[in-house]
Amino acid sequence: MDERTRLIRSATRRPEARRPVNPPIERGTTLLNRRAADLRDENLGPVYGIDGASVHVELRQRLAEMEGAADTFVVSTGLVAVSLALLALVSSGDEVLISDASYWPSRRLLQRTMKRLGVTFRAHHPRATPDEIAALFTDRTRVLLMESPGTATFEMQDVPDLVARCRDAGVHSVVDNTWAAGLLFKPLAHGADISVQALSKYVSGHSDVFGGAISCGSAAMARRLHELIEDLGLYVSPDDAWLMLRGLRTLPVRLAQHEANARHVADWLRARPEVSEVLWPALASSPDHALWQRDFTGAASLMGVVLNDGDTRSAEAMLDTLELFGLGFSWGGYESLATCEDAQLAARSRPPQMAGPLIRLHIGLENPDDLIADLTRGLAAYRSAKTG
Ligand SMILES: *Cc1c(COP(=O)(O)O)cnc(C)c1O
Repeated sequence: MDERTRLIRSATRRPEARRPVNPPIERGTTLLNRRAADLRDENLGPVYGIDGASVHVELRQRLAEMEGAADTFVVSTGLVAVSLALLALVSSGDEVLISDASYWPSRRLLQRTMKRLGVTFRAHHPRATPDEIAALFTDRTRVLLMESPGTATFEMQDVPDLVARCRDAGVHSVVDNTWAAGLLFKPLAHGADISVQALSKYVSGHSDVFGGAISCGSAAMARRLHELIEDLGLYVSPDDAWLMLRGLRTLPVRLAQHEANARHVADWLRARPEVSEVLWPALASSPDHALWQRDFTGAASLMGVVLNDGDTRSAEAMLDTLELFGLGFSWGGYESLATCEDAQLAARSRPPQMAGPLIRLHIGLENPDDLIADLTRGLAAYRSAKTG
């Protein structure tokens, strides 16, 4: 069955009695029992509201089906999903390997809280080969955290190859699958232990709710995550789960339009003299194109744009001129967004050398020709800020 159908079919299953298409929002801490003896009967389903209601169950099942997971857990943000995946796997004395292009709050977690817990990390070059990464493994290495493509600079990683090397070396493999939204790439099918994603992005799709998903490749891994979530007492409101589920049903059709719009804008940007490089693996000119084509079934609409010459100030003059692109963090909603990434690059272990400032664009669902008209104004402002 096609994925678009799979995400929707459960909504129309024949009901016992008339019911709305979507599960209800059930708010509740206490779950009432018929008889006192039922209080200790585990077979009657969840005993406490914290275990979630029908909307949580439906959301988790659809996400697990999409990621090919033994089980998927839904948590309050994408960063919580990354944190829990790591916390479930490491102990004091362990080391985590990340890419220098990892989502920077994931790195901050390792720099601060994980350090306090006795867990160290090393960041490798975003273009390190599987050979070079495997050469970093020591007997303390517990987790390889992958992100493909990487944050801000969009380098692809050879996840299937890296997962195989992790398995050989007894290292756990975790993939931050947010760019692919769990739809365009399937890390668990390649044997990864855990795939996480920020549901706040494309799955929710409307810039109105935070959420994260932790998809586990095996039942044993799912038990580990379940225990951690239970121990920490984590919970997601049914209202938030409901919004995430609503977004999920239309994810494939939205992503297809995002990709088409992004391709239109990327092709135009590439031909502009103010643009040095468009960092988007779906472009045939990208050094990452072959890996993307081999492993992914489509592209998200988040890309980097390296401008020629100029500096952060001239890039900000460009952003200030844009009328259709919102200026703000996060992405994956229906709206186009732009940010300047220079400050984030400077925080890396080895800040990359670029021809000029790095802009990040999220291409939304507007008519892409209108976005191009907006960017034309923006690039004119960039030119005058650069010379003036
Ligand atoms: C946004 C993002 C996250 C975190 O998601 P939040 O819901 O904002 O916490 C994690 N990883 C990547 C790659 C992201 O882009």
